[in-house]
Amino acid sequence: MPDAGPKFRDRLEGMEHPLQAWRDTLEDLGVMGLVREPAQPLPEAPAARPVAAAAAPRNLPVPKAPPPAALSYARPTDPVGCPTPEAVASATSLAELHQTIAGCLACPLGPGRMKFVFGEGAPDARLLFVGEGPGRDEDLQGRPFVGKAGELLDKMIGALGLRREDTYIANVVCCRPPDNRTPTPGEAQACLGYLQRQIELIRPAVIVTLGATPLRELVGVSEGITRVRGQWKRVTVAGREIPVMPTFHPAYVLRQYTQDVRRAVWEDLRAAKAWMDRPDGD
Ligand code: URA
Repeated sequence: MPDAGPKFRDRLEGMEHPLQAWRDTLEDLGVMGLVREPAQPLPEAPAARPVAAAAAPRNLPVPKAPPPAALSYARPTDPVGCPTPEAVASATSLAELHQTIAGCLACPLGPGRMKFVFGEGAPDARLLFVGEGPGRDEDLQGRPFVGKAGELLDKMIGALGLRREDTYIANVVCCRPPDNRTPTPGEAQACLGYLQRQIELIRPAVIVTLGATPLRELVGVSEGITRVRGQWKRVTVAGREIPVMPTFHPAYVLRQYTQDVRRAVWEDLRAAKAWMDRPDGD
């Protein structure tokens, strides 16, 4: 086991975020995140074999049934820990929606977060970006896309002639998945209503999905992002159809910093901007 001491002490020096420092140290050591993984579905029970039962010798002790497996996570039943769809639908502004859902513990990501990360930007933005979920920086600050990937996203938005605050930036999930893993479909589904309500209130002209996760969870397209990026899709939110431009996630662009990848993203963003700017745009 490597020694956690000096590194941990360095991180604690500022004492600004001791819990985060400890969590990072656990991650460096390869210890899983603080949040338990959701239970894996149990394999299907094999079909009963009546012949074997009939042939079983008599007077043998009957083995006790094992206790039922403990649920890894129980959804809270109160409206703060688990906001109802009705409460979400009745929020008439982004601020009200944020307040309604900020205490959410409806999926296993909730108890592990430092901060709940609601979307941010213009309440009437015509261009809306959807990422996957908060990373470490976002979890600490409670704001989407504020780390390295966010810096690149800001640059790309600037290159379009816009400011970050002219757009709206949200994520599929509002809480950081442990070890920055992809949110599970269950976690994404638990949060999807929150994202949809944000979209409904903002009524963007176009949505840009960043990476495979928002494309799959929001739009229902599971094809590989390399294949479908740059091809228009559509999503219907509250009865309104919105064009969707899938592109690569900025974190992928940072990892694959080639001219081809950058050019591809640039083309996708320009197509989205052109749609947003068309004179008869909704
Ligand atoms: N990656 C995301 O998908 N979302 C963020 O907010 C930050 C990084």
